[in-house]
Amino acid sequence: VKKKIFAANWKMNKSFKEAQSFCQSVKAALSSDFYNSAEVFIFPQNFSLAAVAEGASNTSIQFGPQQIHKESKGAFTGENSLDLAIVLGSKICLIGHSERRQFFAETDELVNHKIKLCQSQQVRPVFCIGETLAQREQNQTEKVCEEQLSRGLFGVDKQKNMVIAYEPVWAIGTGKVATNEQVKSVHQFIFEKMTGWGFTDFQILYGGSVKADNAKELISIPYVDGFLIGGASLEAESFINICQA
Ligand code: PEP
Repeated sequence: VKKKIFAANWKMNKSFKEAQSFCQSVKAALSSDFYNSAEVFIFPQNFSLAAVAEGASNTSIQFGPQQIHKESKGAFTGENSLDLAIVLGSKICLIGHSERRQFFAETDELVNHKIKLCQSQQVRPVFCIGETLAQREQNQTEKVCEEQLSRGLFGVDKQKNMVIAYEPVWAIGTGKVATNEQVKSVHQFIFEKMTGWGFTDFQILYGGSVKADNAKELISIPYVDGFLIGGASLEAESFINICQA
């Protein structure tokens, strides 16, 4: 049985101190039993990555950057490398979040490069895909998801673990959650594609306005292996409530 994954994406929020106290709360609330059936991922802003590394020590909490540069080091002022995140203990990395695609011009090709970089360093990528509202209204959801998947995964190692986060762009930070039917249908589509392409070890997370009060229902949908949580991951209490759903 696959472990459920509860992943917090703090975006550009949370100071070093706030990150420390969040980790303390999660540590206190989730017993070691919890981690037998679930994994907790935290994606802090880079200035707080070290705080989470410290707060997560001696726990099963995993953490990693929200974005990395495509090179491991060099003259790229202002950028952050996967290598330096690994030094802090990162074993996961968020790749291709829709905000990166939308505001920072990340292409499928760049996403593909970064996924391969993660794989070469034994880091598990959490690879985000999803359609915009206009694309859904034009019945292009499956086409868009398939294109993002096939381009993002071009030439990657299919035996290595891959976490896909399906996040309909129109549901991120909007309070609009995809319906159970929409979630099931896209997750099943992704599952069948991945299996058909020969991927043997993957999970599919849902993201988009997940909250404590809808988590229980969403987690019971077939092919949903966990969540990527933005807004509701900013308070330890609501994040913990989602994990406990
Ligand atoms: C996200 O940022 O990945 C996300 C799903 O945000 P929210 O939960 O706030 O919709």
